[in-house]
Amino acid sequence: MAEKSDLRNRINVMLFHFDQRLGPRLLFNVAEIQETRVTASLTRLMDFNFLQEMKAFVNAMANVVYSSMFFSIQNPLARGGIEQFMLSFVIFDPTITEYLTISSLEEEMSITISKLIELPELFILITYSNPILEDFPEVDNCLSSLRDNAIDNFQELFYGQFEGRKDAISQILGKIGFEAGKKILQRFNPDEFDSSRTFLDAILISPIITRWGDINVIHFDPDEKVATASVENSIWTDSLGVIATKACAYVEGMLEAIFSQILEEHIICNETRCAAEYSYVQNCIFQIAPRDISREMISYREDQTVREMGINERKQTVELIKEDIGKQIFHELDDPMIKLNKLFNKAPFISDFFFDMTKFLVVCNYWRYSDDIICNTCKEWIEKTSNAQIDLVKSKHRICEITYMDEED
Ligand SMILES: [Zn+2]
Repeated sequence: MAEKSDLRNRINVMLFHFDQRLGPRLLFNVAEIQETRVTASLTRLMDFNFLQEMKAFVNAMANVVYSSMFFSIQNPLARGGIEQFMLSFVIFDPTITEYLTISSLEEEMSITISKLIELPELFILITYSNPILEDFPEVDNCLSSLRDNAIDNFQELFYGQFEGRKDAISQILGKIGFEAGKKILQRFNPDEFDSSRTFLDAILISPIITRWGDINVIHFDPDEKVATASVENSIWTDSLGVIATKACAYVEGMLEAIFSQILEEHIICNETRCAAEYSYVQNCIFQIAPRDISREMISYREDQTVREMGINERKQTVELIKEDIGKQIFHELDDPMIKLNKLFNKAPFISDFFFDMTKFLVVCNYWRYSDDIICNTCKEWIEKTSNAQIDLVKSKHRICEITYMDEED
């Protein structure tokens, strides 16, 4: 069950102003965790282009889903006679329930905007270069109540209805998938197959399964009763696109039923990485393990899979660079900035990056995992691959700062 404190840490409310000369500018970020790097990157990555007046626009990127609403107020002193603002509601690491219901906040956001446009404070604060929220108590009150009300709504509607750590919609989808998996098994006669593996393969290539995605068994150990499977073109991720959260609870349930039958034990299936989480990830990874093994053992096995995935993806990156420009030519490029740019472009696990004055801000798919899974060797790997000296600082929040040193330094 998601705790209220967990929601408080993950939910931000942001107010932007459109300066005619400077473009969009963040005025306030109402959040539990304030980190300038995160707000700076959010401001850059947020999409201001699709906004229509007083209409919520939902988008997802880099582990964040947000709903934004644009509004304007009359100001005879401003160019064009109006001041333009954007109100954004941001959820970090959303659950699928949160993703699917964020648009229901549109009404709550409209109410906030209707209060904001009445406030004389709004005209004053835009004249400040770095306004501080405490100096504008009425605006503070509006933004904070939007955040509080939304947290209450999410809490009441969707949490605590089910036991367990998954959110409500994932649990429902998982249950349906499990029942579907049991139905699918009824079409097969286990006696027709000489081993558990041939039985499994026959199930996984049947059209009734492949309609949900192409399933590949990466690792299968019937004695230990563990397995790892990847699913490409899952119907859930293909239809939802990048939503910054895992989307395949149905497949989890279905695989749970199938592998429980194959391994003759009630196993659990856990999606460790989903293609819906990141724009660059092509397939979803599922970990299968006995239900009664300890949580530590499961997370140890997941870590091993993730580490192997990371090593493979690094190899792939180098292959892609070799194919595209040749490893040698890439190495001989003078400018470390160009080399790093090309490297980040090719790496499948880097979902976003941008250059900020003197350093790269890199959004990496492996941020979720503890440092010793893959992060600890990253600096070394980047230096070796690009032949450039770098300094790497991992932020608490999913973004790495990578500064390169010029060769003369
Ligand atoms: Zn998935």
